[in-house]
Amino acid sequence: MRGKRSKAYRKLMSQYNISFGFREPYQVLVDAEILKDSDRFKMDLVGSLERTLQGQVKPMITQCSIRHLYALSGSEFPEKDQIIDLAKRFERRRCNHHELEQPLSEKECLEAVIIHGGENKHRYCVAAQEGGIRTMLRAVPGVPLIYINRSVMIMEPMAPISAMKRERGEREKFRTGIVDTRPKACAKRKSVKKKIMPKPAAPKPEASTPKSGASKPVGCGESTNGADNKEKKKRRRKHRSAKIDGVPVGAKRGLEL
Ligand SMILES: [Zn+2]
Repeated sequence: MRGKRSKAYRKLMSQYNISFGFREPYQVLVDAEILKDSDRFKMDLVGSLERTLQGQVKPMITQCSIRHLYALSGSEFPEKDQIIDLAKRFERRRCNHHELEQPLSEKECLEAVIIHGGENKHRYCVAAQEGGIRTMLRAVPGVPLIYINRSVMIMEPMAPISAMKRERGEREKFRTGIVDTRPKACAKRKSVKKKIMPKPAAPKPEASTPKSGASKPVGCGESTNGADNKEKKKRRRKHRSAKIDGVPVGAKRGLEL
């Protein structure tokens, strides 16, 4: 993976870790389509997931998804057995739809497995090739979404709803951070300290001090001008004295000649 993308994914996962509580090994629910495509592109699916999410992964597949793989026609998918063998190595996520005569669509199944009260309660990452699944999960905060684009594994940028929730969480942390320091400070110095709380806005007086210092160079400039004037006066005096001395000498000489 290229350095730039790798760096972006590392940052993205650290945001999911901090804001949504993701931890390694990341639980990754895969759909049947991504298994088929990774086989088609001869990709190492688990290795690619680990490189993309930048950590240990626990690949998982629902009972419905695996039933869809079994339902593939062998003539259309000659690699069917190979795909199923790989899927069997993944942890089976019990969706309890196995009692149904027909499996649910993967979208319906994953919706039931992932979304609880509008949240990704179990912190699943989802590697799904079916666009409808990713569209559905973009509306749920905190679901890392992965797909394959022409043999390149891609992690989607954080969906707007996730980014918003993350920002709100950051602001709250900042606010509670301030609230947490309050009781500690107040407990020691009691009520007196409370009135001093609006202090954070006060570092302005420090900024004004350089202004008073800035007037000094002007004074220095004046004094140097004064020194120049003195030198000029001295020079004039010397000049005058030379004339005074020279005149009588020259006059005497002229008179003598
Ligand atoms: Zn299911």
